[in-house]
Amino acid sequence: MTKRLYIETYGCQMNVADTELILGILGAEGYRRTDDPQDADVILVNTCAVRDNAEQRVLGRLGELQRHLRAGDVLGVVGCMAQRLGPQLQERVPRVNLVAGPDAYRKLPDLLAIAAAGTPVADTEFRSWEHYQDVPQERQPGPTAFVTVQRGCNYKCTFCVVPYTRGPERSHRLEEVIGEVEAVVRQGATEVTLLGQTVNSYHDGRHDFGDLLRAVGAVDGVRRVRFTSPYPTDFTPSVIEAMAATPEVCEHVHLPVQAGSDSELKRMLRRYTREKFLDVVARLREAIPGITLSTDIIVGFPGETDEEFDATLSLVEEAQFDDAYTFRYSVRAGTPAERIPGHLSDSVAQARLEQLIETVRDVARRKHLARIGSAHEILVERSAKRGNFMLGRTRTNLMVLVDLPRSSVGEYHQVQLTGTTGFTFTGAITAPQLAVL
Ligand code: SF4
Repeated sequence: MTKRLYIETYGCQMNVADTELILGILGAEGYRRTDDPQDADVILVNTCAVRDNAEQRVLGRLGELQRHLRAGDVLGVVGCMAQRLGPQLQERVPRVNLVAGPDAYRKLPDLLAIAAAGTPVADTEFRSWEHYQDVPQERQPGPTAFVTVQRGCNYKCTFCVVPYTRGPERSHRLEEVIGEVEAVVRQGATEVTLLGQTVNSYHDGRHDFGDLLRAVGAVDGVRRVRFTSPYPTDFTPSVIEAMAATPEVCEHVHLPVQAGSDSELKRMLRRYTREKFLDVVARLREAIPGITLSTDIIVGFPGETDEEFDATLSLVEEAQFDDAYTFRYSVRAGTPAERIPGHLSDSVAQARLEQLIETVRDVARRKHLARIGSAHEILVERSAKRGNFMLGRTRTNLMVLVDLPRSSVGEYHQVQLTGTTGFTFTGAITAPQLAVL
């Protein structure tokens, strides 16, 4: 009998891709997705462990979801929080009867059978060989697609829980990635985003990330290639050269910096100095004219002094980021940063966060205002939440509201930017749909 599966996804794009992987694994076993938890035989929550508030949200949501369970149903927690907390999750939310870490997805059919038969089950074993390269993902058809090229992380940033939840880095073989890219193109995608925890450190034993970019760009039907998230010092000359030489690679990089002073970067165990980071920024801008840069920044890291925070603010100005995701440091049990002295009070961290957001907005606003009047190609992604407009994305990752019909999803158009709200632009179509190459 067909079983119905309800799944919710929290966290990063890697989790979105993992949900597609889980749907692929369980779809092959006859599970069908439902959008209604009340209707489901299996409820899964794919979780993030990077910040405490993400975990608290999931705990609250599990409390709500357990109300829908009938005898024999399964409430499962998968992903990074499952890996981090393991069977403790079953103590905190008693009706959770399945816990599976990111390396246990291949075993989900067996684990679900055990849980449905009445025995709570947890699998958080690290399987450093597990790539899931052979497992077809079940994707929503659309013009954009995520393709995982690497799992895990070999860096050990002191604030980060990922090395403990996703294990060591492993890259998919280039041939397998190309096969997957060809498959998403057959399903209608023309823009592909390559995913990895430190995606530009990709190496499959024979090919580096530069080789991968060139190969993905050469796949018939691929018009745009993006990737996230790179690590600053893995932008080797060969990777930057490949970006510049592959016309399909978009002119945008999300380049997490985290802090602006050498001393704080050192406590975070980021493997670069401010100067080295700015050198990467300069090399990218020189090789790829018009490139936009976004970043991640943490404020209130243990021991952060006023001077260190000022250095972060000045780095935002100096690097001229087009956008930044800003976070208050969130202590994660078991990470080295937990033991660094000088944890800041909530009020100091919050005040710094607000000041940082203001600085980021100022820089972005100035840059965005200067873009009004410029011409771009957009890919129409979806309808906008307000009005009858559609939302398109430029190669440089700017979001543009345009007056087009709903049927335009997946089309490429030339636009001229006519205004900005600070982050989103309005645009006027200047040329009809461009043929897909
Ligand atoms: S590079 Fe650092 S922040 Fe990124 S996943 Fe690895 S340990 Fe975490």
